[in-house]
Amino acid sequence: MKITEHIAKAKKTLFSFEILPPLKGESIQTLFKAIEPLMEFKPAFIDVTYHREEYVYKQHPNGLLEKRTIRKRPGTVGICAAIMNHFKVDAVPHLICGGFDKEETENALIDLNYLGIDNVLVLRGDSIKSETSFIPEPNGHAYASELLEQVVNMNKGIFLDTEMTKAQPTNFCIGVAGYPEKHFEAPNLQTDLKYLKKKVDMGADYIVTQMFFDNKKFFEFVRLCREMGIDVPIIPGLKPITTKKQLTTLPSIFHIDLPQELVEAVEACKDNAQVKQVGIEWGIQQSKELIEFGVPCLHYYSMSKSDAVQSIAAALF
Ligand code: FAD
Repeated sequence: MKITEHIAKAKKTLFSFEILPPLKGESIQTLFKAIEPLMEFKPAFIDVTYHREEYVYKQHPNGLLEKRTIRKRPGTVGICAAIMNHFKVDAVPHLICGGFDKEETENALIDLNYLGIDNVLVLRGDSIKSETSFIPEPNGHAYASELLEQVVNMNKGIFLDTEMTKAQPTNFCIGVAGYPEKHFEAPNLQTDLKYLKKKVDMGADYIVTQMFFDNKKFFEFVRLCREMGIDVPIIPGLKPITTKKQLTTLPSIFHIDLPQELVEAVEACKDNAQVKQVGIEWGIQQSKELIEFGVPCLHYYSMSKSDAVQSIAAALF
């Protein structure tokens, strides 16, 4: 079922979460074990992230360096199908521009369509570690809006081969990313919102936000979106803080701020068990306020570790 249909028929705030595909070589049971404790809260859907290839250099005995491409985690098509089959819940694959040309993207979308996967979250993806800025593949997409256009076209029966005049249209519900604290490359929030509006005007059905820890930033983001005529559902993304190290890693990876009150509470903790407790309490408080604000769904970044999200969900759902 489409995310927009879940939202339309819901009588209360929905629960959903995001997981990472298991590392290559790990069994699907590892992933199922991370999902199982959260199933009692009846998630409306589960998102599966996509991870780009990385370059590594292997030194040969003659001193020459060989550049190799490795992908540590598999793609999302098989995992989404496995989750849907095992748990009978909608799985939402993340589709990224990085590393794919249009043909490969079309093939992935055809597979998703055959598998009865109704939703996709379309993203640009980040640059790979060795690149200073995002470089699209030859015949690939430079922005999420271009990838979105490809999905919207397929929903109209327009495939890459323009001679295919009788192609069956797909019917994907399309999500896009939004950034309450602006995307790190955008010169300012206003410009970032202009491009977010472009994605919605081109056919995005809903927005999921980057994680944030200060609800005021989300409320202001929603206000600005509505003011500009962005009228699709906006789903807040939340991440419970669980370690002291995250005080520096989360801002540096996700380009977000942590409120001083949270920072001080985490700094005062003796160990990470205490930090997790602080993170859970903060997450419950944030979630309660967001429910009161009327968000359609609370989406948690579990990063495949379910215990903190489980404690938050137990207090709310
Ligand atoms: P875009 O919408 O393309 O925007 C990228 C930047 O370009 C922004 O600064 C925007 O303002 C600007 N921009 C947009 N259009 C134009 C234009 N036409 N001209 C000039 N500037 C423009 N990454 C992964 O690799 N895998 C994942 O699974 C994944 N999941 C995510 C889930 C969520 C909910 C979120 C919020 C992020 C996720 N990311 C993921 C990270 C995301 O890929 C990065 O943040 C990436 O840098 C931007 O992606 P985007 O889709 O927002 O890009």
